[in-house]
Amino acid sequence: MKKILIGTHNKGKFKELAYLLPKKLKKVSPTSLNIKSPKETGKSFISNSKLKVKYFSRFVDYPVISDDSGLCIKALKNKPGIYSARLAKKHGSFFKAMKVLLKKMKNKKNRKAKFVCSLSYKNKFGKIVTVQGNLYGKISTRIFGRKGFGYDPIFIPNTKKITFGQMSRERKINMDHRFLAYKKLLKKTKI
Ligand code: IMP
Repeated sequence: MKKILIGTHNKGKFKELAYLLPKKLKKVSPTSLNIKSPKETGKSFISNSKLKVKYFSRFVDYPVISDDSGLCIKALKNKPGIYSARLAKKHGSFFKAMKVLLKKMKNKKNRKAKFVCSLSYKNKFGKIVTVQGNLYGKISTRIFGRKGFGYDPIFIPNTKKITFGQMSRERKINMDHRFLAYKKLLKKTKI
């Protein structure tokens, strides 16, 4: 069976990418190979996803896919953005980070936000393809739902009335920023 390394330690992202990728591929995690994460020194989602795919592909001789993603809130100057995971780490949990963001958004009229995902894919010949998917929506007034991961319970996609945290996994995976990025990737390369 052909393999692909999904270059992330985030279980939520791993599950979503494993769901999107072809069934015929064996999905390998960095944890199973005892590989740690690289330092995210990039200044954009794209530079971080490229940095990750290059780093993880040093350990295997088969294709690698990496994701860098996050939540950008317009009224907060697109923060936390590339610092989304680091914000949760700083406050101790995603729940606390969501509370902090909701507090900052308390009196804001503009609740527009987007989830961004940059995917980088390195094929077995070493060619790298990078894409970005944006999913637009708004920040809810409270934490709603327990499904999904990360900031899912405070994000309402534009075409829906509920947060990702209230949505079934299949529904979310088939419309989110990762899905949009993956569709773009398939237009650019064969996986
Ligand atoms: P990084 O790409 O490893 O820097 O982490 C991105 C962070 O953004 C994740 O830890 C989550 O907090 C957040 N994030 C990215 N995608 C999603 C999503 O689909 N739902 C909820 N949170 C997400």
